[in-house]
Amino acid sequence: AKEKGGGRIERYAPAMGRASRVRLGLEGALRNALKNEEFVLHFQPQYQLSTERVVGDEGLLHDRVSSRLVGAESLVRWQRPGCELVPPMEFIPLAEETGLIDEIGTWVLESACSQLRQWQQWFGSEFKMSVNLSARQLCDPALGARIASILSANNLRPEVLCLELTESCLMGSVQENQQRLQRLRSLGVGISIDDFGTGYSSLSYLRRFPVTALKVDRSFIQDLGEHADNQAIVKNIVDMAKVLKLEVVAEGVETERQLSCLRAIGCHTVQGYLFGRPVAASDFATSINCSTDD
Ligand code: C2E
Ligand code: CA
Ligand code: CA
Ligand code: CA
Repeated sequence: AKEKGGGRIERYAPAMGRASRVRLGLEGALRNALKNEEFVLHFQPQYQLSTERVVGDEGLLHDRVSSRLVGAESLVRWQRPGCELVPPMEFIPLAEETGLIDEIGTWVLESACSQLRQWQQWFGSEFKMSVNLSARQLCDPALGARIASILSANNLRPEVLCLELTESCLMGSVQENQQRLQRLRSLGVGISIDDFGTGYSSLSYLRRFPVTALKVDRSFIQDLGEHADNQAIVKNIVDMAKVLKLEVVAEGVETERQLSCLRAIGCHTVQGYLFGRPVAASDFATSINCSTDD
């Protein structure tokens, strides 16, 4: 306890004790979760947009727009006994701090790739899977070999796996991360910069990383069609990506209005509640929007 001005007593120690007990409890529970296989993956579909010039009934040209399922992003959840499904933001940070992320991340890669193997048969051999990696996983020198062996165990071409790394996780030690990404890229897998636009990447900085895609952060997509600034920003990202020959994926697309803006801007790959929420593998095929014409 510590005396403050005005004679008020604040007790720091018991409060901290409680916080660390909660943390320790959670850490133990996370370790058990690995052992008891309490993690589950949910999958959110990704669609490719295209526009076709067709001759209509009156002999006039008009655009026919369509979207095609091209892949999915895997998103981990924790099915903690007696609890609601725990979202990743409530345990990934602690998993990173404690190093448990290496094992959880390996489980995620294995599960996502084994699911991908099945979906390649259902949806075609071009169907892709995106997997989120944390900064700590990127630093693991064994990561590349592990990914290579998971791919070959599932008989997958490396091109169908895309690793998503956040912009902020690449900022730290640029030179080391450049080499780490280079090693992963040399396996043939795709590399996407997640939450793009929220960090401070400049064009020159971006060119130093061997990335294949940019995933525009949801915050830029949210008010597309209402906010001229964001529209200009996303348009610039898309134009820049074309010059650098990178794919652009818009995340968090929720409305038709956002979608038509993205079409106008020339963004070709989209993901968001408008197309499908993340769902368990068993619900994926039924939840996806199977129609090709919108
Ligand atoms: P993220 O990679 O940026 O994933 C997108 C998040 O936005 C997901 O939340 C997804 O459910 C949500 N989302 C997708 N579409 C929409 C939309 O239209 N509207 C709104 N409001 N939200 C949308 P989720 O699943 O809770 O994941 C949160 C974050 O947790 C992820 O952000 C990612 O950074 C992290 N994460 C998830 N799975 C993994 C994993 O396996 N490994 C690691 N290292 N991190 C993971
Ligand atoms: Ca992601
Ligand atoms: Ca993201
Ligand atoms: Ca995010």
